[in-house]
This record gives sequence, C-alpha cells and structure tokens, in this order.
Amino acid sequence: MLSPALSVLHDVFGYEAFRGPQEAIVEHVAAGGDALVLMPTGGGKSLCYQVPAIVRQQAGQGVAVVVSPLIALMHDQVGALHEAGVPAAYLNSTLEWAEAQDVERRLARGEITLLYAAPERVTTPRFLDLMDGLASRGQLSLFAIDEAHCVSQWGHDFRPEYRGLSVLHERYPQVPRIALTATADALTREDIVERLQLQDARQFVSSFDRPNIRYRIEEKKEPLTQLLRFIEREHPGEAGVVYCQSRKRVEEIAAALCDAGLTALPYHAGLPPEVRQQNQDRFLREDGIVMAATIAFGMGIDKPDVRFVAHLDMPKNIEGYYQETGRAGRDGLPADAWMAYGLQDVVNQRRMIDESPAAEEFKSVMRGKLDALLALAEATDCRRVRLLGYFGEKSQPCGNCDNCLQPPAVWDGTDAARKLLSTVYRVHQASGLTFGTGHIMDIVRGKDTDKVRQFGHDKLSTFGLGAAYSEAQLRGVLRQLLAIGAVGLHKVQLESGHSFDTLALTPGSRPVLKGEQQIPLREATASAAPKRTRRAATPPVAAANLGADAQVRFINLKAWRAEVAKEHNLPAYVIFHDATLAAIAERNPASLDDLHGVSGMGAKKLEAYGADVVRVCAAR
Ligand code: ADP
Ligand code: ZN
Repeated sequence: MLSPALSVLHDVFGYEAFRGPQEAIVEHVAAGGDALVLMPTGGGKSLCYQVPAIVRQQAGQGVAVVVSPLIALMHDQVGALHEAGVPAAYLNSTLEWAEAQDVERRLARGEITLLYAAPERVTTPRFLDLMDGLASRGQLSLFAIDEAHCVSQWGHDFRPEYRGLSVLHERYPQVPRIALTATADALTREDIVERLQLQDARQFVSSFDRPNIRYRIEEKKEPLTQLLRFIEREHPGEAGVVYCQSRKRVEEIAAALCDAGLTALPYHAGLPPEVRQQNQDRFLREDGIVMAATIAFGMGIDKPDVRFVAHLDMPKNIEGYYQETGRAGRDGLPADAWMAYGLQDVVNQRRMIDESPAAEEFKSVMRGKLDALLALAEATDCRRVRLLGYFGEKSQPCGNCDNCLQPPAVWDGTDAARKLLSTVYRVHQASGLTFGTGHIMDIVRGKDTDKVRQFGHDKLSTFGLGAAYSEAQLRGVLRQLLAIGAVGLHKVQLESGHSFDTLALTPGSRPVLKGEQQIPLREATASAAPKRTRRAATPPVAAANLGADAQVRFINLKAWRAEVAKEHNLPAYVIFHDATLAAIAERNPASLDDLHGVSGMGAKKLEAYGADVVRVCAAR
C-alpha cells in the first residue's frame, strides 16, 4: 500500500517519485511537525507544503493557509492547483470585495484545501477572526510560510509585514508550520528561526547545487554586444532574463534587444503596476520572451523553461546572484547563467554601500558579502565549488562552468599590483591629493597626458614602470586589489557638487607592497563562448531527442496546449510542461491507457485532457 503522501503525488500531480528530501519533509509535516526547508530555486518546494495540505485535508483536518508575498502570481498558482483538481483560492488586494467575501464563505464551509494569502492580509483582525473560527473546529490544518527569508533584513528581500507572522504561532500553537526559502546563508537562517519562533522546527537543508545550470562570468567590454552575441549564438528564440542595475538601463537594454530583432520587455518598480503585470504575464504565457529587469522581477516566477539568466551588472552579493541565476532551468534541462562584469561594477557597488545611511555594522556585513562575490568573479578555479562553498557545502570541480570547461590562463599580477599601489602612495605623498583609476593607470603605463604633465606625475619614480602591461591587465589587477581590500575607494566631493572616486591605500595594501602577498590573475581573454552553436528554429531542449514523427506530434501538442492555456487564462506550462508533452509525443498514445504513468499526468488532467491528447497525436 502506498502512503497517503505518495498516493497524492501519483494521483494528483502525476509524478513518479519524490525528489531528494521532499519525502522526508512531506511525511514530517503531514504528521503535524514543524519544518524549516532550505532548498534551491527549482528544487521543488511547492510540493513540500501542497502534498501535506492535501493529505491533512483528506484526513479531515481542514484548510492550509499559504503565506506568500507574491500577489502578482497567486492567480496562476491557484490556477495550477485547479488544473490538478485541488480546491484552492487566494485572498489579496486584487480581489473585489464581493469576490473576497465569497472566498471567505467557502473557507468557512470547508470547501478549500489551500488558501494563498498575502502576509498583510493574514494578520488583519478580520482574517484572524476567520481563522479563530476554523481553529476552534480543528479545521486549520497547516501554515506554510513561503519565501521565508522576507522576514530577515539579512536576506535580499526584507518585507516588514513578515515580522507580524509570529502571531500565527502565538495564537495557534497547535497548528503545524512549514517555512520555506531558497536563501540560506547562516545569518539569514538564524534570523528566520528567531523571528518566526521556529526553534523547535526540524530543519531540512538540501544541497544547493543546480547541476543543469552552467555558470559563466566574463569580463565586461562592450556589454550589449557581448549579450547579443551570447543570446544569438546560444539561445535564439528562447526565454531568458537579463538583470540590470537601474531602471534606466533596463529600458535601454529592452529597447536595444528589440532593435536587434528579439522580443524583449522591460520590468522594474518604476513602471505602472498594470504594465508590470502585463509584461510578466506575457513572459509567462508566450514563448521565447527576453525580460530585461531589475531585481524587482523574479521572486516566485515558476516558469520552468527559462533557458538563461544574464547579468549585465553585478549583483550585491552571492545570495542575490544565486537566487537570480536559479530562475534558469527549473525543468532540470540545460540552462546558462551568464554574467559580464568589470571594474566599474566594483566601484559602483562599493559606493552604494559606503553612501547608504545604514549603521556601520550593517555596512561591514554588506562589504564582506560583496567581497565574496568579487572573489567568485575573479576566481580561476571551479565556480560551482565556490558557490556551494559559500553556502557551506563541499564539492568537487563540476565540469559545467566556464573555468572547468576552459581553464583560464593565469598570470602573476604581483609585480603590477606593487607598481599600482606604490603609484597611489607616491602621488598622495607628493601632493596630498588622491586620483582616480584611469590616471593612476596612465602613470604606471607612462602615458603622456595633459593631466600627467599638469601634476608633474611624469617625474614620479614609478612613471612608466609598468609600460609592458596592457590597460586591461592593470584593470584586472585593480579589480582584484579592490576585491581583496588591498586598495580602497575614497570619494572626493567637488565644489560644483560633483563627486568622483579616487584610490587610497588601506591597511591591506602593506602585504602586497612588501611582496608578501601574491596576486594570481585570470588572463584577460576574449569572450570564452563554448562551441555550442544552435541554429534558430531548432526544437526546445525538451524535445531535442525525439524522432521526426514524434517531433511533429510534439509541435501539434504545443499548439493544442497554447489554445487551452489561452482559454483558461493560464501559462502554458501550468497545463503541461514541455517535458510532459515530449513524453506523450514519444509514446504516441492510441488510448487513454497509454497515458498512464506519463510524468505530469495526474488523474484530473487525464480526465480533462486525455482524450484530446490522444486525438491530437492521431491527427497528421
Ligand atoms: P521551487 O519552488 O523550489 O523553486 P517548484 O516547486 O516550482 O520549485 O518546482 C520546480 C519544478 O519541479 C516544478 O515545475 C515542479 O512541477 C517540478 N517538480 C517538483 N517536484 C517534483 C517531483 N517530485 N517530480 C517531478 N517534478 C517535480
Ligand atoms: Zn566548475
């Protein structure tokens, strides 16, 4: 006999087996235990609370309340449950009053298995009243707190409303709770436990590895050209996200991608809410859209076939980088995380921290986090080993990152570093002034500029000592020196109100100047694009291995799915994933029986769509 949880997995979701720690989590929570789940994006967190919710409901224990900050996605999440035949609803500010009342009535009548609600809604007196009623009849089965890192200021998405959620435990101590997040550095984790009073909850920490994602970081030269080359060569016609630092840049990049013939849309917090929602819907519902976005985009986006995530500007820390890149390849098929980064990124991020009004303690944590990301970007060894190491996980070189695939040439930058630092020292000693990176590099390379002559810097003993180095090499050395804190940025305020960054020595400069610290550097190379060129109009990765006949069925099935999705006002992948369509196309079913055991084909979907699917496969 199957356990109730496994039956639900088979019958409702149509999946063969739990993945990794899902089974242990589901059994623990279904039995009434509290849990804190740390799992990477795409790891399969939703099932960790959906299956226990259904199991507990079947056992007569009532409704599960899912707290989520993702109002813009609740409609699709609930729609996906409906497709699987699970009674679900949501309560948030997008509902009309009458609609919300209707949900509340159904809730009180026990007609709902999962209720999604925004955190600010859950803690209102009206909602607490409603829950009091359910709890008094033993009809409150579970609290699931999704995106639990939002409770912590150390996470990258602090939402003050999450702090109020401690009321759930205080008011309903008998109701089990499961908190889930993909953000897992130790500091954030401790904070979640404390804020949500999860001291007694069992912690389930998954491996954070996403083996199907290929990590690549290259030097930023002409970012737009590099990006276009990357997309055109490797992901023509595929869905992806391009993260940029500012709203302005998002707009520029979206426009430039459109000019290049791609279908690209912008997304940032400065757009009117209805435009944001519309662009997000198009990204989710249409094929092959590239979203240019600030980090305002992406939390909870569960589109499974995002084939690449590109960073045109450096994120603030590894948590952010990992969260954002994790949105690629949720379906487990090959995907790329690609980043272009340069000296200016380092300068900008440092300055943002320095200029923020936060307390010094906070800034110093932020600087440490930035440094870890810089070290990742400058690394000459396996990116994945470093990423996982950051989350406390030991691993072996992965064979699926740029450094593993094409080990970079390394050169010894120690001598160049000393020349740069002693120049910084000498210009300051000579005039009491500090200068920016460009000027310092000019001196080291012995360039005869107006500014060099104006300050008499051609007389310095280090002038021209590094003439043999290219500007790119020196830039690389400076990035590295900034990354390890061996040189600092110092802001100079001009009377005109303008300000600029200059270089200054730090306590960390000494060991480098004295030759005690080596500076190994990656050779500045041209873009290391792997030779994996695909032509446009090739099938999606899910269908890549199908024979010619099956390809035709796959294409027909996709067309059929698009119609159904449109009719139901849902993204196509909510009806069936590409992988499910590919499996159907391969089987070439002649009857409903032939569809049993296709992954993603639950009982409700078989009933609703089985006959159609067989018919589509038979049509030629
Ligand atoms: P997360 O919320 O952790 O980012 P999701 O819950 O969205 O991840 O799951 C990622 C994808 O994996 C979804 O498309 C989901 O349907 C699929 N999935 C999750 N668990 C399983 C499983 N046990 N078997 C097959 N597919 C699964
Ligand atoms: Zn690697």
